[in-house]
Amino acid sequence: MANPKRKLSRASKGHRRAHLALTRAQLVRCTRCGAMIRPHTICKACGHYRGRQVLLAEDS
Ligand SMILES: [Zn+2]
Repeated sequence: MANPKRKLSRASKGHRRAHLALTRAQLVRCTRCGAMIRPHTICKACGHYRGRQVLLAEDS
């Protein structure tokens, strides 16, 4: 079995993981109801996507 020749130092491990941080989810306003939604997703508040009703609305 292939095995690492040496133990990876804490510094090397840290350097590799320097790019693994999570980024905050981007939010945009729904053009119809103004709720904060993730881009390219259906608005859960009003059920619209790109100006079209795509989910059954409970109120409006
Ligand atoms: Zn909406």
